[in-house]
Amino acid sequence: MEKKIMKNLEKLVSIDTSCPENQTNIDVLNFIESILRPLGFNCIRIPSMSFEGQNSLIAVLNPENKKGGILLSGHMDTVKVQKEDWRTDPFRLEIINDKAYGLGTVDMKGFLACVLSVVSSFPILKVSTPLYLSFTYDEETTVKSIEEVCSFFKKNKFSPNLAIVGEPTLMNVADSGKGYLGYTTLFEGKEGHSSYPEKGLNAIYMASEFSEKLKEINEIYKVSTLNVGMIRGGVSPNSIPKNCVVEWEIRPETSSDLKKIQKEVFEKIDNILDKYKGAKSTTEIREKLLPFNYKLKNKTRDICLNSIPKSKAIKGNGAGESGYYQELGMDVVYCGPGNPDFAHKNNEYIQISELKKYCVFLKKILSSQDETK
Ligand SMILES: [Zn+2]
Repeated sequence: MEKKIMKNLEKLVSIDTSCPENQTNIDVLNFIESILRPLGFNCIRIPSMSFEGQNSLIAVLNPENKKGGILLSGHMDTVKVQKEDWRTDPFRLEIINDKAYGLGTVDMKGFLACVLSVVSSFPILKVSTPLYLSFTYDEETTVKSIEEVCSFFKKNKFSPNLAIVGEPTLMNVADSGKGYLGYTTLFEGKEGHSSYPEKGLNAIYMASEFSEKLKEINEIYKVSTLNVGMIRGGVSPNSIPKNCVVEWEIRPETSSDLKKIQKEVFEKIDNILDKYKGAKSTTEIREKLLPFNYKLKNKTRDICLNSIPKSKAIKGNGAGESGYYQELGMDVVYCGPGNPDFAHKNNEYIQISELKKYCVFLKKILSSQDETK
């Protein structure tokens, strides 16, 4: 088993997937499919709507039995890398004692290597409930592919009830995590000479009132947070600024917080436009990761905690892609091998012993899918 894991990891690390915006991920798709197809998986590529040459991959076993089943999910991309800052070549797996160094070993090619190794070393066809594997291409950057994957699930009525997202947690079981929504709001007023303020509409004033409101809302919520990160506006000190842009964000703890906060924020924009008659405003979402809500009942969490010795339930470090699967009605956790502290860093490594442990866990989970029948 160990040989197989390391062989898969070595291959995955050797394929550069660090830049979904301007490269294709065909090589990694071909590699994954070359393992899954012969096992009987139906492999479906979901082409990206944003980046040519990029695809997500969904692999399905036993889809005829559409209800229920389990989903194992991860992303194929890694963060970008400065090769010269590494002690080793980030695209060549280097083993030193129990440590396997390479870009993405923790986040999250180690998980992918485990999934591929387990399904191919296991009488996988004995798993009688549907088994879904889903691999996205841009989790570290634009996070568009998860929405494409979820709409495909919806359209095809794929409805696994259990979902494990293999983000690194040191094999602890994360059952919640904050979302992230980044917004850009433009206020558009009317320019004019600064000695006649009544003739113009000052966009910086609008942006300041807006920012003040975001600060107020932030003080009300305990865990969900808001931040104004950048303001750009005006052209000279002696003119009334026409445009002002506010870059801001919400990190919601739950979907209901998100709804409430959005409502308050957009009401404020309406108030500002009422006050500055003739002004306009537009808001765009730059980036969106839905919150991953804590649920009292979560079957996947129970199964994982029972199957992994010494694991504990934790709050996740962000939401990852879990919130989207939760929206489709799955019981989701994220639980993967590797220390999240080593992710997104130079000289990233994962412990080989942990990869082996994770494979034992995956085998257990998949066998239990057979026994339940
Ligand atoms: Zn990740």
